[in-house]
Amino acid sequence: MSDAHPAKRARIDEEDQGTSGPSSKPTEPTNYSRGEVWLDDGNVVLVAEGTAFRVLRSILCSNSDVFRDMFTIPQPTDAETWEGCPVVQLQDSKVDLVYVLRALFDSKNTDWFRYNHQATFEAVSALLRLGTKYQIEHLRQDAINRLPACFPSRLEDFAFAKPVEPPYGRWLYSNSSAMKTIPRPELSIAIVNLARSYDLLYLLPPAFYGCAYLPHFTLTHGFLDSDGHRWKLSQDDLNKCLSGAEQLRKICADEHRRLFFAKPSALCDIKHQCTNLLEEERQFLHDDDAPILAGRVSVLSDSSVMWFSSLDLCNDCVNDFTFDHSEMRQETWCRLHAIFDLEIEWPPKASGGL
Ligand SMILES: [Zn+2]
Repeated sequence: MSDAHPAKRARIDEEDQGTSGPSSKPTEPTNYSRGEVWLDDGNVVLVAEGTAFRVLRSILCSNSDVFRDMFTIPQPTDAETWEGCPVVQLQDSKVDLVYVLRALFDSKNTDWFRYNHQATFEAVSALLRLGTKYQIEHLRQDAINRLPACFPSRLEDFAFAKPVEPPYGRWLYSNSSAMKTIPRPELSIAIVNLARSYDLLYLLPPAFYGCAYLPHFTLTHGFLDSDGHRWKLSQDDLNKCLSGAEQLRKICADEHRRLFFAKPSALCDIKHQCTNLLEEERQFLHDDDAPILAGRVSVLSDSSVMWFSSLDLCNDCVNDFTFDHSEMRQETWCRLHAIFDLEIEWPPKASGGL
C-alpha cells in the first residue's frame, strides 16, 4: 500500500520551516515515531517496531556485512522512502536496536566502551544478540568479553566477586567493572540462554550454579529484564538445574559434616580449648540441624563466611579448616559441569584451568 504511505507528503514541522522552508523536505510520516538516533545527513532510515532511525548507510556497511549485503539488493522503484531516504524494516526490538545504533553513531552515548565502564545486562545482551545477527564483530566481542566478569571460568575470579544480599551468595555482583548485575541473581537464567544460543558454553557452569539459588517460582516462570525481554529456562535445562541443585545440597551437607567432625590441627597449642569450641559448635549444629544443613547449595562460598571463621580457634586450626574447605571448593568447582549434566570441557583449558 505504498500509495497510501504518508512518507511522501509535504513536511510541515514548525522547527524546519524557519531553516529550510516547508516545501524543501517531504513530510515526516505519522505512522512512525522518530527514534533517538537521527542524523540529519543520514541517507537510510531503519524502522523497528514502528520507530524510525535515520543513519548513514556507509557506516552500517563498513561495520556489518549483513547490512552491506542487504543494501546491494536492488530496490523496486516504488520502495518506501522517507525524506528521500530508503526505509528498511527490521524485525528487531527497537530498544535493542538503539544500543547498536548508539554504539555506531552516537559517540556521547557510547561510554560503555570506555575503560572501566559498567554496562547493564540489557546492553550487553542486546550487543551480543544484534552484534551476532548483523555480524558487527566488535560489538559482539565487547559483549562476550564482559560476560565472564560475573560468570567466570576460574574459581579465584569467582571468589573475588563482591557479596550481594543473602541468600544469593557472594559472587553475582562482580567486582569487575565489565557488567553491572546489581543484585539480580535471576540473570543466571538469561545467561544460560545466551550461552546456549551463542555457543558460549563456558558460561554455563557458573550460570547454572546461580540458577540453583533461585526461588522455585522464578526458576520455573523465568523473569522479565528491564527492557521487557522474558527469559526462561528450557524444560531440559530446568531439569538439569533442579537435579544439580539437589546434588549441591548433598555436597554442601557433606562438606559441613567433614569440617564439623575434623579434629584440631596437629600444630595446635591449645587443643583443649579448640576441641571444646568445636564440640560446642557441633552441639549447636545438632540442636539446629535442619536449617544449617538442609536446603543449602552455597558450596562455593569462600572461607570467610564459613562457621569456623567466627569461632575463637587458634590460627593453626583456622588454617587447617580453611585449607580443607578450599580443597572441597576446588573439587566442587571442577565438577560443576558434571553436577549440572553439561557435556562441556570444564574448567576450559583456555581459562588456565583452576
Ligand atoms: Zn587450635
